[in-house]
Amino acid sequence: MTDQRVLAVLGAGVVPADTPVLRADDLGLIRGDGIFEVAHVRDGRAWLLDEHLARLAHSAARMDLTLPAPSALRDLVAQALAQWPADVEGGVRLVVTRGPETGGPATVFATVLPVSATNLRGRHHGIRVRTATLGFPATLRSDAPWLLGGAKTLSYAVNMASQRWAQSQGADDLLWISSDGYALEAPTSNLVWLDGQTLCTVPAATTGILAGITAAHLFAHAGELGWRTDTRMIAPAELARVDGAWLTSSLRGIAAIRELDGVELPYDAELTGRIRAFLGFP
Ligand code: PLP
Repeated sequence: MTDQRVLAVLGAGVVPADTPVLRADDLGLIRGDGIFEVAHVRDGRAWLLDEHLARLAHSAARMDLTLPAPSALRDLVAQALAQWPADVEGGVRLVVTRGPETGGPATVFATVLPVSATNLRGRHHGIRVRTATLGFPATLRSDAPWLLGGAKTLSYAVNMASQRWAQSQGADDLLWISSDGYALEAPTSNLVWLDGQTLCTVPAATTGILAGITAAHLFAHAGELGWRTDTRMIAPAELARVDGAWLTSSLRGIAAIRELDGVELPYDAELTGRIRAFLGFP
């Protein structure tokens, strides 16, 4: 792992990574009013960049935010990645805020960062997860566009607080449960499970969870692993009876849920390793 970071700012290009880039009245800072994406960096390239840019455009539309041209975003990512050692695994984060409160252009920058030791540990050794309520029914967000279901906004304070709470309970991560008892997603990952020969995940459109790009890629290629796919709702207790459960995200890759609320889940290290390798994560 490296401590190295790279920063590229739209209009300025690559600047020293500790350069301040936000005004004190930036709406992204004072309201969390902005969007972002994080893509895995492998062999010096952003993996599934087209999919991440498409989701960024979707988030922007949900937020009534105007994005720079896709070519400008691509160039920005390319400028940042040109400064990153191709043999080091990393993540590229692309941030777009609504800009200064007094008006003015959007703030747009890209950073390249190393994959955290926590993510690497979870990827290779699995994780313990606690469930906790998100406080509303599973389908509420599909009829409430102001709740920004499916948008990857900068407002992650609740996500981070959820993870801190899970850690205070001795777990590694948290799985949000709807008020009607269904597993939704984790604060930075999607839930995926294997039921016999069917790989399953939670439907994004009806629940307002983030449509994960890692999970979508895995599902698009699941046939190559010999599996069918399905989207389903599942109660957390049922996860003890499936053939494996994982959290997926761009930087974590895939992490096996070894324990849920203190109950051991079925875990197959060889199977997890096979999926990880299939997804191309070291
Ligand atoms: N759900 C949430 C809330 C997330 O923040 C993320 C990660 O960014 C994911 C799911 C996983 O999505 P992806 O696989 O696109 O990284």
